[in-house]
Amino acid sequence: MTGVSTPVIDRDYIAGFFHDRDIDLYAVVSASSLHAPAGRRPCDLLASAETMILFCLEMDKDLFSGTPAEISSKVRDFVRNIRDVEDDLTSALQGSGFEAKPVRSVILSGGTIKGELSLPHCAADAGLGEIGDNRLLISYRHGCRIGLGAVVTSIGMEETPRPEPSGEICTHCRKCIRACPEHALSPGTLDLFRCRNVTGSFPGFLLPVMVPFMRSGIRIPFSNRLLNLLANRKVNACADCLTSCPHFHQDPSDQGS
Ligand code: SF4
Ligand code: SF4
Repeated sequence: MTGVSTPVIDRDYIAGFFHDRDIDLYAVVSASSLHAPAGRRPCDLLASAETMILFCLEMDKDLFSGTPAEISSKVRDFVRNIRDVEDDLTSALQGSGFEAKPVRSVILSGGTIKGELSLPHCAADAGLGEIGDNRLLISYRHGCRIGLGAVVTSIGMEETPRPEPSGEICTHCRKCIRACPEHALSPGTLDLFRCRNVTGSFPGFLLPVMVPFMRSGIRIPFSNRLLNLLANRKVNACADCLTSCPHFHQDPSDQGS
């Protein structure tokens, strides 16, 4: 009998998967090792979650240059590339008989918008980098010029090694805080309801109605579904807290692996 054999999914397979896609920064971690709050743990996303696989896709340095329409188009393509990698990995895992789910939804929690899982925090826990004052992951290899993707899965797998955190990547220079045109950032916090990329995704007539409700923490029926619809039409009106960071311009050759 002949047939297409399903691949053995292990660390070597994952290494080859990312190598084939020119992704040199990824981590495989045990789901239970991540410091996530109740309700936003890998097992809250996928009950059988044993492992989380995270990756960083490097951005082109000119991603945010050009007209607004050109930038939007480039950013949409970049996000689509991340989604495609997540979908390919999810399909490979499911094709081998494991449960798997990409991490991409947002929820309303505690009066603010959060990822279903906080990818920057999970990536920092996984040893990929550290969180900067711009609330983004600053990776050890590509600085903050990255996009994060992740899949949670039921397969158990050996973890990738985690470097000792240096605790010195973000220099607290405040360039990101000063660059924000909406004063959405302060050390350690980001008020997403001020961020232009969030406010710009709300239809104008909904903004003054929805934001106070969302901030209040009152449960609104279908709010998470609405948020995810809005997230899919998210505009890329601003990247100043990203591009103002010296780590956006970091040369990977300056960094160790
Ligand atoms: S701009 Fe400065 S303070 Fe902000 S994340 Fe980068 S290094 Fe940290
Ligand atoms: S993307 Fe722009 S508006 Fe949003 S927090 Fe960063 S600097 Fe502020």
